Amino acid sequence: GATIGILGGGQLGRMLSVAASRLGYRCHIYEPASAPAGDVAYRVTTAPYEDEAALRAFAASVDVITYEFENVPTSALDLLESLRPIRPNRRALAISQDRITEKTFLNDLGLATAPWAAVESESALAAAVASLGLPAILKTTRLGYDGKGQAKLTSPDDIPTAWAAMNGAPCVLEGFIAFDREVSVIAARGLDGSVSAYDPGENVHEGGILRTTTIPARLSPSQRSDAVLLAARILNALDYVGVMGVELFVTAKGLLVNEIAPRVHNSGHWTQAGCAVDQFEQHIRAVAGLPLGDGGRYADVVMENLIGDDVLKVPDLLKARDTQVHLYGKGAPRPGRKMGHVNRVVSGQNR
Ligand code: ATP
Ligand code: MG
Ligand code: MG
Repeated sequence: GATIGILGGGQLGRMLSVAASRLGYRCHIYEPASAPAGDVAYRVTTAPYEDEAALRAFAASVDVITYEFENVPTSALDLLESLRPIRPNRRALAISQDRITEKTFLNDLGLATAPWAAVESESALAAAVASLGLPAILKTTRLGYDGKGQAKLTSPDDIPTAWAAMNGAPCVLEGFIAFDREVSVIAARGLDGSVSAYDPGENVHEGGILRTTTIPARLSPSQRSDAVLLAARILNALDYVGVMGVELFVTAKGLLVNEIAPRVHNSGHWTQAGCAVDQFEQHIRAVAGLPLGDGGRYADVVMENLIGDDVLKVPDLLKARDTQVHLYGKGAPRPGRKMGHVNRVVSGQNR
């Protein structure tokens, strides 16, 4: 069978490896640090992204390269791309690595985002606050996740502290959106250009970290089709191959795109319990050039992340009805660390 190379050995790489193995593929994970995916993948390389020899050996051992982590350095990607196909493609990755290129791309496609301004100094922040108004959120353009690298401003007095908290990194200021709710679309595009989107899920974040995803999202029929069509538009514009997560704010004036993730997404974990083909298998199918699978939904699901000490609930969760428990093998819990998740099947035609 073929071997799929995965950049990044976190829980997403782990679940991709399991899905790939079910389809008869082997996975070779490349990860600089310790890898929760390591014990399920066929092979693991633990080396920095600067290690050219390790990157070459990795590429030589795989047929196609994908990733579960956006922040792979450009130099490593340049080398890997010269050796093997990378799916999703480099453009999708480059665009989503930087909040400013991402918003520019989305706005150029005609999609709405929060109003935003690039900020590279304290005085630029003051000017951006004056033009966008308050409240607003300052975010580093790169490397942020789980709400890290962000500061909310509610008063002009917050400008110096917010700017200082970013340590001089290039930033974007976003107007604060008083959204009705947050939803996401998990969508896939195959090598043949076909697109399949899962039903949108409704997301609740706490302290910047995804807490729960509930399916179906509370959306009107037109909002639901807008959300799915908008995601398809993004995938087609990027000539994308693989699964993408598109995070949306639902407002009275329509849908705004918060951000896109060029990979399987935490808010798509519910598909493991709600669909014949989950997001991990769908991503593997896409990058391996197989036909996309059936992403139709046959149950209502609530996905809950197990963050930090939430894992202490696992003995009880294991006894609960209609509940799928997923653990990432990360060892000791730390505050804010995603240790696993549960999918609760709330209803379904199979009951
Ligand atoms: P992820 O782990 O999803 O990559 P991230 O660190 O990139 O997260 P964002 O998605 O930008 O962070 O923001 C995290 C959460 O903060 C959002 O899901 C939303 O709840 C809130 N948030 C972010 N930007 C705004 C905004 N402009 N207006 C209102 N709320 C916002
Ligand atoms: Mg993000
Ligand atoms: Mg986000």
